[in-house]
Amino acid sequence: MITLVTGAAGFLGSHLSARLLADGHEVVGLDNFHSGQQANIDWLSAHPRFRFVRHDVVKPYDIPCDLVCNLACPASPPHYQADPVYTSKIAFLGTLHALENAQRHKAGLLQASTSEIYGDPLVHPQPESYQGNVNTLGPRACYDEGKRIGETLCADFTRLGRVDARLGRIFNTYGPRMHESDGRVVSNFIVQALRGEDITIYGDGSQTRSFCYVDDLIEGWLRLMAQTETVGPMNLGNPTEFTMLQLAELTLKLVGGKSKIVHKPLPSDDPKQRRPDITFAQKVLKWEPKVPLAQGLKLTIDYFKTK
Ligand code: NAD
Ligand code: UDP
Repeated sequence: MITLVTGAAGFLGSHLSARLLADGHEVVGLDNFHSGQQANIDWLSAHPRFRFVRHDVVKPYDIPCDLVCNLACPASPPHYQADPVYTSKIAFLGTLHALENAQRHKAGLLQASTSEIYGDPLVHPQPESYQGNVNTLGPRACYDEGKRIGETLCADFTRLGRVDARLGRIFNTYGPRMHESDGRVVSNFIVQALRGEDITIYGDGSQTRSFCYVDDLIEGWLRLMAQTETVGPMNLGNPTEFTMLQLAELTLKLVGGKSKIVHKPLPSDDPKQRRPDITFAQKVLKWEPKVPLAQGLKLTIDYFKTK
């Protein structure tokens, strides 16, 4: 089984590639290092069944494979907002090219979709049937709307019988091999606490997220792909919800040290609450996350200590 992983040099792409190699796949990792790390590829390249292709997904490609896992896209708000027009191109053209490659080679496709398609949700927790509340004009729209058109392309390729594309809507996932300057909240808080710097809470810290440890997410993805019938879209995430203030306090408790909590302006359109309804995944995949936040944070803190 040859699996193409786009975005293999990224946080989730490196974990997915490692798990696929462990499960016996041949893995072709594709990336252009827009937000990924060379170190992830160096480490994977040590494996005899891993091959790397340096390529920008906004341009078409032709890579024989049995499965495409389409992850290539910057995921952290500072990264995807740095060049928003490029982000929209990656989300649209990158998904189109992944689907065209899958169709050409009669491969299946796993699309890394996101809870951001629900925007700043007015329904809580979010079930797959919720159609979202996205500001098309705001700074997050390049990513949110990009991921929404990505879902549309997958749905149309599937409806037309061209590719069996599975949509996994991932909720905030964290773990080792996040980039230390990634900008997302878990890595920011841990790196700040380890360096003894101020912990930066945006806004009053009452906004919520539900954090999934990376190994749990990867297991959910693989179970979604293993379904024999077309299925989806499916929420994949941990349904235990925390405020950012609670996350900051827990991180400080686990790291120790002298950091202070400081408040910075809340970015516009920052979702106020987010928690997945995972009833569908529990029923179909017999899956739910196993790693509680404190345990996953400890593993992630240990990783950042070695950096
Ligand atoms: P990441 O930024 O660590 O990884 C993304 C990878 O894609 C990087 O290696 C980057 O270099 C590569 N990439 C970006 N643009 C590219 C291009 N034009 N051509 C080739 N490669 C390109 O982010 P991540 O957290 O690993 O996220 C991976 C995927 O999962 C993304 O599609 C993201 O939208 C999705 N996702 C992640 C989360 C999460 O919490 N981590 C949540 C929802 C969705
Ligand atoms: N956040 C924060 N401090 C930081 C980074 C992020 O308080 O240093 C907040 C951010 O405003 C948001 C939440 O943490 O409310 C999650 O942010 P992240 O960028 O990790 O993910 P997303 O907003 O895409 O869910």
